[in-house]
Amino acid sequence: MIISIDKSKSNGVIDALGAASSRSGASIRVIDWNDGSLSVNVLGQIEPDALSHPAITAVHQASKPYRLASKEHREKTVVRVGDVEIGAGNPVIMAGPCVVSDLDQLVNAAEAVKAAGAIILRGGAFKPRTSPYSFQGLGEEGLQMLAGARAATGLPVVTEVMEPEQVEITAEYADMLQIGARNMANFPLLRKVGKTRKPVLLKRGFSATIDEWLMSAEYILSEGNSQVVLCERGIRTFDNSLRFNLDLNAIPFLKELTHLPVVVDPSHGTGKRSLVGPMALAGIAAGADGLIVESEPNPDSAKCDASQTIEPAELAAITRKAMAISALLNVEELLPI
Ligand code: PEP
Ligand code: MN
Repeated sequence: MIISIDKSKSNGVIDALGAASSRSGASIRVIDWNDGSLSVNVLGQIEPDALSHPAITAVHQASKPYRLASKEHREKTVVRVGDVEIGAGNPVIMAGPCVVSDLDQLVNAAEAVKAAGAIILRGGAFKPRTSPYSFQGLGEEGLQMLAGARAATGLPVVTEVMEPEQVEITAEYADMLQIGARNMANFPLLRKVGKTRKPVLLKRGFSATIDEWLMSAEYILSEGNSQVVLCERGIRTFDNSLRFNLDLNAIPFLKELTHLPVVVDPSHGTGKRSLVGPMALAGIAAGADGLIVESEPNPDSAKCDASQTIEPAELAAITRKAMAISALLNVEELLPI
């Protein structure tokens, strides 16, 4: 059961619900959606008398296993990363290099993607590489460089965390924690980021179903962290012509299933520079709340994922068109033809 609560009137209600649930052997978890509302997730049965408090706005019998992520009890969640709002209307562009390799490279890239319309900087310090012999990222030194690039540009930073042990240090430097595709079902890691109050970018595992992905989001939400953004980044299918296949179905389908914002990664989703622009725009047309794109000034010299990294000038064109498509999606009346 999920109980929705008006936070402004919530004085005493959480304690009362906690006491009523423990009397019947249940427990509760409280989640703050950062918009004036709280949800209380009841694990077990609760005494019905406890549900008549004036702060309680609704009681939902959750039918889905991803009860907190489900649209059954909430229409929309806006996730805040620094001053940036994801899911509030305008597409949010996140961009930067795949991997952080030196401070000058990063600051140049950050300035270039900012000029191209990005409002969040991406860059990997801990890199999940398919081969153990590939560059694995600079670790904490990379995090410090990301903080330096934030100081230089004002852009908040999203970066990947791969292990529960890295969460604390990554959260010290980053504005948003990224869970990569290869870790979507790393449940101890999901629980650990769920215990922080940092926004989380949860990438889809490339063999994960939508239900499995939403249950991974549920792991984070159920620890009390409401700030989760889903990222479609391509899946594996029978067709291996491209690195991955961007599943655009997932975007409008997720919009039916969940209140969480959804963004698209056309870089990993295609693996091919020439396809990044078209698939980015297709993602926005399908209803995505933003994009995460690998971009830096000299894509060919990128230390990782060069073949899918685009020039900032192309990012600028994508940003302009993404804003135009998004504005068009909000037009209610028929345009003159
Ligand atoms: C990345 O964003 O750099 C990355 C490794 O992505 P994914 O986890 O989607 O492969
Ligand atoms: Mn990459």
